[in-house]
Amino acid sequence: MALPEPSASGRFGEFGGRYVPETLVPACQELEEAFRAAWADPAFRAELDDLLHHYAGRPSPLTDCRRLSEELGLRVLLKREDLNHTGSHKINNVLGQALLARRMGKTRLVAETGAGQHGVATATAAALLGMECMVYMGEVDMGRQALNVFRMRLLGAEVVPATSGSRTLKDAVNEAMRDWVATVEDSHYCLGSVMGPHPYPWMVRELHTVIGDEARAQCSEVLDGGVPDVVTACVGGGSNAIGIFSGFADTAAELVGVEPAGGAAVGRGVPGVVHGMKSYLMQDEFGQVQEAHSISAGLDYPGVGPEHSHLAAIGRARYEQVTDAEVIDAFQLLSRTEGIIPALEPAHALAWVSRDRAALAGRTVLVNLSGRGDKDVAQMMEILG
Ligand SMILES: *Cc1c(COP(=O)(O)O)cnc(C)c1O
Repeated sequence: MALPEPSASGRFGEFGGRYVPETLVPACQELEEAFRAAWADPAFRAELDDLLHHYAGRPSPLTDCRRLSEELGLRVLLKREDLNHTGSHKINNVLGQALLARRMGKTRLVAETGAGQHGVATATAAALLGMECMVYMGEVDMGRQALNVFRMRLLGAEVVPATSGSRTLKDAVNEAMRDWVATVEDSHYCLGSVMGPHPYPWMVRELHTVIGDEARAQCSEVLDGGVPDVVTACVGGGSNAIGIFSGFADTAAELVGVEPAGGAAVGRGVPGVVHGMKSYLMQDEFGQVQEAHSISAGLDYPGVGPEHSHLAAIGRARYEQVTDAEVIDAFQLLSRTEGIIPALEPAHALAWVSRDRAALAGRTVLVNLSGRGDKDVAQMMEILG
């Protein structure tokens, strides 16, 4: 395993941990034990691998981008998580957690969602396994991503608006945690990124290592046994980034996470505690959590997974910021040069590559294309006219 396990208390260096109400401590411990046992059980792994292959469509391809590379003066390889069932990397994590929940005897999945991709993935897994599903979504996001709300309902999930605070992702997480406290006997909280209390950051990372493992083997084939010079991904909570980083952490590849300038927890935050974990967090001078602002609802989160805070602190990964305007350009650039319409989230990673192309000249850059742009075309149509 290229990235080490957290400590027994769930810490990556000084970050992580388990800051939850007393009622949830046994639930987190039970979950940790259940996941540890399942992850070591070949039958569980085989069932998950089978679903990832026959249901989600893995392995996802690696695409060598000829025209984009020529335009930027560097070599771009894309890990195509956009081609997974439901349109993003989220399905890797959700199928794993849904199988685990069933193994634990739970009959109901609770989830939070921002742009709706994690909600759709969770509703999908619930339908597949015949489980009940309740998704909390910020009221503002429900307006921005109406199509995904309809999708979740089609899939049989109940979608509940989070009406407190900024009525976005951070508030949906609060509501989902509140639900879990009250229903923990029969419900599993299917958290959508490498955040929250231990064991979530570790468990969700493990369920996404499939991205990095596949990419490492695929790059080796394309690069004659080599690895890319740079591996990059967008960072909201940080799950798609940690998934691809995990495959290259033991190599000389530079690891670069890209945050939205308006939600740069690593770049602009300070250590704090939110949603059960200690991590970098955007706070005001009074220690109140600040609102994040990004063109992409999926990255509108003021915190970041604790392992990213640790990787930044020890200098193993670095974190860059891009503006909404740069993202809009990158969204069009990939569409025009490669015939691939990206989601706005991975367009952040592409935006950084494009902006820093002079510094990256001649190098090989692997970009995790975490999702496809279908969910974003209506929003972009309004912006671009
Ligand atoms: C949810 C989402 C993200 C952000 O989540 P991470 O945990 O940071 O990966 C990024 N890309 C897509 C396509 C998403 O749906």
